[in-house]
Amino acid sequence: MADYEKLRPEITPLHEPFWDSVKRHQVELQRCDSCGAFRFIPTELCRCGSAASTWTPIAGTGEVYTYTVVHRAPTPAYQAEAPYVIAHVTVDEGPRMISVVVGCDPTDVHIGMPVTLVYEDVAPDLTLYKFTPAG
Ligand SMILES: [Zn+2]
Repeated sequence: MADYEKLRPEITPLHEPFWDSVKRHQVELQRCDSCGAFRFIPTELCRCGSAASTWTPIAGTGEVYTYTVVHRAPTPAYQAEAPYVIAHVTVDEGPRMISVVVGCDPTDVHIGMPVTLVYEDVAPDLTLYKFTPAG
């Protein structure tokens, strides 16, 4: 693997279990032990006020809530991929997650499009999650 020259997520102790699950290619989100709601991004407290949660695997399926097509990349390291799509995806468990949509032409992406999680090991110590069209 070449040196990873793109932006890296800031992995705080609160976020570490999430990124560890991405590295295992099985995303886990916090699920409230009190009301059962999944949440993302990781937080100390649920909306219901409970601090008790369990990292729980999700199915990895969802649909595009909204998206944008990036033509001018934020850094030169991303420019070769432009144009590319960044989407908010509502996963089946409820939360919305943001990432790129890969594996299709940017013009094929649309609101409501079914997508699934895919993983990319971009560096020995970093795996990213992305979305690709389902089916
Ligand atoms: Zn709750």
